[in-house]
Amino acid sequence: MKVQEKLALIEEQIQTACNKNNRDLSEVAIIAVTKYVSTDRAKEAWDAGITHFGENRPEGLLEKQELLGDKPNWHFIGSLQTRKVKMIIDKVDYIHSLDRLSLAEEIQKRAEKQIKCFVQVNVSGEDSKHGLEPNEVVDFIHTLKSYDHIVVVGLMTMAPNTTNEDVLRDCFRSLRSLKDQVEQLQLDYAPCHELSMGMSNDFTIAIEEGATMVRIGTALVGE
Ligand SMILES: *Cc1c(COP(=O)(O)O)cnc(C)c1O
Repeated sequence: MKVQEKLALIEEQIQTACNKNNRDLSEVAIIAVTKYVSTDRAKEAWDAGITHFGENRPEGLLEKQELLGDKPNWHFIGSLQTRKVKMIIDKVDYIHSLDRLSLAEEIQKRAEKQIKCFVQVNVSGEDSKHGLEPNEVVDFIHTLKSYDHIVVVGLMTMAPNTTNEDVLRDCFRSLRSLKDQVEQLQLDYAPCHELSMGMSNDFTIAIEEGATMVRIGTALVGE
């Protein structure tokens, strides 16, 4: 199926999810996760009107960017090795996986402008998932005060790989309430208005629970 057709279906689902909660379609940005697909397929997504692209490996991001240039918004969404920060730091608009101080230090050191970062939270507590534990998040964000190249625009999580709607909803709700907590601190370096949550299998639920950025791979660009 063409990306354009898949996008139309996804937008319909997003609209339905938005309607349930009186949200506006414009409040939800779709990030096309192109990590599994060719650069040609990424180009097809750009031609279909997608303006946000996400990759989870530095090499993949550079490869896609070579073709698409810097007009799209580039999101780094995967766990980021400290030593690879310098490969991508000038090339990304957002990093969704800030989860440790050593990474913050490296971003601070290498960035020449402010980088919009999401603090990644391991809400579900699964060993396989990266991210801070929920109870570590506020302290972590406080320590970022002196890192003037980092703006904490929001929180990000990956939900458990399950079809159990209650489990997914709980996970997204917890992230939202943590986001509200940080937002209420009114820190100028951590406005924290955004929620990066929801992937191919769970984005409608994530939107019902407040997602402002959904990261969709398979359902949008899968071949
Ligand atoms: C791969 C990936 C996605 C997209 O996954 P799909 O299930 O293909 O939509 C979203 N977020 C992260 C962090 C990923 O690594």
